[in-house]
Amino acid sequence: MADTSFIAWPFFEDSHRSHFEALSLWCETHAHDLHEESGDVEADCRRLVKMLGGAGWFRAAVPAAYGGSTEKLDVRTLCLTRMTLGYNAALADFAFAMQGLGTGAISLFGSEAVKQAYLPKIATGDMISGFALSEKEAGSDVAAMDTSATKVDGGWIINGEKTWISNGAIADVLTLFARSGEAPGAKGLSAFVFPTATAGFSVTERIDVIAPHPLATIRFENCFIPDDHLIGEPGDGFRIAMATLDIFRSTVGAAALGFARRATDEAVGRATSRQLFGAPLSDLQLTQAAIADMALGNDASALLIFRAAWAKDRGQPRVTREAAMAKLYATDTAQQTIDKALQLFGGAGVVSGNTVEQLYREIRALRIYEGASEVQKVVIARATIAETKG
Ligand SMILES: Cc1cc2nc3c(=O)[nH]c(=O)nc-3n(C[C@H](O)[C@H](O)[C@H](O)COP(=O)(O)OP(=O)(O)OC[C@H]3O[C@@H](n4cnc5c(N)ncnc54)[C@H](O)[C@@H]3O)c2cc1C
Repeated sequence: MADTSFIAWPFFEDSHRSHFEALSLWCETHAHDLHEESGDVEADCRRLVKMLGGAGWFRAAVPAAYGGSTEKLDVRTLCLTRMTLGYNAALADFAFAMQGLGTGAISLFGSEAVKQAYLPKIATGDMISGFALSEKEAGSDVAAMDTSATKVDGGWIINGEKTWISNGAIADVLTLFARSGEAPGAKGLSAFVFPTATAGFSVTERIDVIAPHPLATIRFENCFIPDDHLIGEPGDGFRIAMATLDIFRSTVGAAALGFARRATDEAVGRATSRQLFGAPLSDLQLTQAAIADMALGNDASALLIFRAAWAKDRGQPRVTREAAMAKLYATDTAQQTIDKALQLFGGAGVVSGNTVEQLYREIRALRIYEGASEVQKVVIARATIAETKG
C-alpha cells in the first residue's frame, strides 16, 4: 500500500485532501483505459484529453470564472493532480500538464475576451493547448529567440519556427512567444494567444523521443493575429513566460515525485516478494539502504514541492527560488530513485514494458524542459546571492 501520509501535512486544506483522494480513486478505477496504447501517441493523447476532460480533471487547470474548480490557479491542486496522474500514467500527466501550461499565461494575464473564448473549452477537454517558447537556437537561452511579431493595422504578423513543442501537432491553441522588438534581448519579446487554425501555420516535423510524447516542430509564415490576442503589453513576453513557469515548475517536480513514488512502491513490492539466498531480497541491508534513500528522497522532494506551492497559493508574489529548488531537487532525485528501483528488479527491470523501465525513460526529459537542472541552479544561486547581499 502506497505511503500517502504527506497529505496530512499542514500545507493542505481539506479541499486538497478530497481532490487527491477522488483523483487517486478515479485513476485506480480507470487504470486499464489510462494505459491503453494505439501506437499513435497523438491519437492516444487526444483520447486521454477527452477522458480527463470528460471526468472534470482539467477544471484544476483554469480559474473558476471560466469553468475551473478553484478561484485562481491553485498550485497545490495542480501539484497534487500531476503527482497522482504521474504515479498512475505518465501520458495522462502530460495531457493535464499541457492544458495548464498551454493556457497559464491566458489565465494570469489574458484579456477577458480571450479568457472567455478559450479557457472553458480547455476545462472540458474540447480544446487542446500548447506552450510555444523554444526554438532550435533558443532553448535555455530564451532571449536568443528569433520568431518575429511585426505590428500591422489591427494585429500582428508572426514569422518563424518553434521546436520541441509538446502537443505542437494536435493543439488548437498555443501560448506563443515572439520577438516584437521593443528592446534588445529578453525585453523585446511578446506573448500571444495563437489559434492553430490560423492561415500560414504548419507542422514541419514530428519528433520521436525516448518516452513517446506528441512533440513537434511548427512553422509560422505570415500568420495574422488580432490585437486582442496579445497577452499583456508588448515587450512583456519574457516576464509573462517566467511568471507562468513560476507556477508550473513546481508541478514538474510533482510529476517527477509521482514517478518516484510509483518506482518506490514497485521496488518494495519486488524486494519483499523476490527470494534471494533463501530469504526476501528486502532482508539484505544493502536493499534496505536503497529503499531508505528512495523514501527519504520522496519526502524531501514533497516538502520542497509543497512548500513552493503553498507559498504561491498564500500570495507570495514570486516563488522563483522555491519553485527552482522544487523542480531541481525532485527531478534529479526521482531519476536516482527510479534507477535504484530498476536495479532492485535485476534483469526484469530493463525488459520493455516493465513499469520501472517505462519510468526510467519517462523521467529523463523532466530534468531538461522548463529549465534544465543547471538553469535552476543558476536561478537559486542568483536569488541566494541577492538575498544575502541584501
Ligand atoms: C520532452 C520535451 C518536451 C518539451 N516541451 C516543450 C514545450 O512544450 N514548449 C517549449 O517551448 N519547449 C519545450 N521543450 C524544450 C525545452 O524547454 C528545451 O529543450 C530546454 O529549454 C533546453 O533547451 P535546448 O534543448 O535547446 O538545450 P540547450 O539550451 O542547448 O542546453 C543544453 C544543455 O546545456 C546545459 N545548460 C543550459 N543552460 C546552462 C547554464 N546556464 N549553465 C550551465 N549549463 C547550462 C544544460 O545541461 C542543458 O541541458 C521540450 C523539451 C523536451 C525534451
